[in-house]
Amino acid sequence: MNNFGYARATDVADAVRQITADPEAKFIAGGTNIIDLIKEHVARPSRLIDITHLPLNRVEETEDGGLRIGALVPNSDLAWHPQVEARYPLLASAILAGASQQLRNMATTGGNLLQRTRCFYFYDTSTPCNKREPGSGCSAIGGINRMHAILGTSEHCIATHPSDMCVALAALDARVLATGPAGERSIALTDFHRLPGDTPQIDSNLRADEIITAIELPPKGFPRTYTYLKIRDRLSYAFALVSVAVGLEIEGGTIREARLALGGVAHKPWRDREAEAELNGTPATRESFARGADTVLRSARGFGHNDFKVELARRAIVRALTQAAEGKPQSQADKRVSGSVP
Ligand SMILES: Cc1cc2nc3c(=O)[nH]c(=O)nc-3n(C[C@H](O)[C@H](O)[C@H](O)COP(=O)(O)OP(=O)(O)OC[C@H]3O[C@@H](n4cnc5c(N)ncnc54)[C@H](O)[C@@H]3O)c2cc1C
Ligand code: SF4
Repeated sequence: MNNFGYARATDVADAVRQITADPEAKFIAGGTNIIDLIKEHVARPSRLIDITHLPLNRVEETEDGGLRIGALVPNSDLAWHPQVEARYPLLASAILAGASQQLRNMATTGGNLLQRTRCFYFYDTSTPCNKREPGSGCSAIGGINRMHAILGTSEHCIATHPSDMCVALAALDARVLATGPAGERSIALTDFHRLPGDTPQIDSNLRADEIITAIELPPKGFPRTYTYLKIRDRLSYAFALVSVAVGLEIEGGTIREARLALGGVAHKPWRDREAEAELNGTPATRESFARGADTVLRSARGFGHNDFKVELARRAIVRALTQAAEGKPQSQADKRVSGSVP
């Protein structure tokens, strides 16, 4: 048992004050990840700062016609929010593909961004892991690595980021709003998470003394030609082996704008702007999609058990682009099959 203190933050400024005063403290929101990490002795915070009473649970329109989502909005409320369902169904679909209804009821927008990897060695304190204990080694390289990354890996870590929601947010050009002692700043979602490099213990570019207050979405949501395709071992309650978020704008059979992000393949949601640029201006055909997939995967490599992911990702990209172009997103099927309809 690790002893830790507990304090409730009264407002955002108080939360920042408390985390600045005690760098070993951690915020707790829905608690669906941080409590597990404490129980497994992976996280040892000096105290938990409860932020659940802060006024960060609203979804509001922004002046430019986009959406601001408070960091404490539960994943379920967000997925079923009328504005999100109608204007950003890609996001709704990605959220509903994750976890279970009960977990989504507890999990928050901010917590989802900062959930830690599901690499089993990270949770097993009897094994070396550079993310848990820098410098100790990586048990997954040369170990059992079926779930692990094929893109952006380093010799120090091949873990993946487990979020579904973040993959859709990356494709939608979302931004993360954070507040710290120096004030508020906005970070592009695609710059929020980090590749492992030689500091795999650091997952994101959020500073230790900052709190996430909101996510902002620009107006464009690709409400008709989108898909979130998640390939996993079971149809629900399983993390992605590979997932693909797609938003397309098509005019007269030609792609005007393509958005493409992958989950389950890297230490962060993997958005490839070179592949997107290549797709733009080409006919919305299987040949174009296959070329796009080749570009995304040009530097992909497996580590043994996860070699199959390279081909799986290639096929998933082509299928997701095809579904989006045909206006037949995976999401409608997902909502029925996973039993997520309230
Ligand atoms: C069995 C299981 C299956 C799951 N399956 C999936 C899945 O398929 N797909 C998927 O995407 N997710 C899945 N999840 C993960 C789940 O979505 C996350 O645990 C959840 O989103 C975390 O949110 P939370 O509010 O509970 O975070 P917490 O556990 O409260 O916090 C997580 C981390 O975020 C920090 N934090 C929280 N809020 C803030 C904030 N506002 N500012 C700064 N720091 C903050 C905390 O300090 C902590 O470090 C699964 C979880 C479980 C347990
Ligand atoms: S892949 Fe990363 S998280 Fe997993 S054992 Fe290696 S260093 Fe640890």
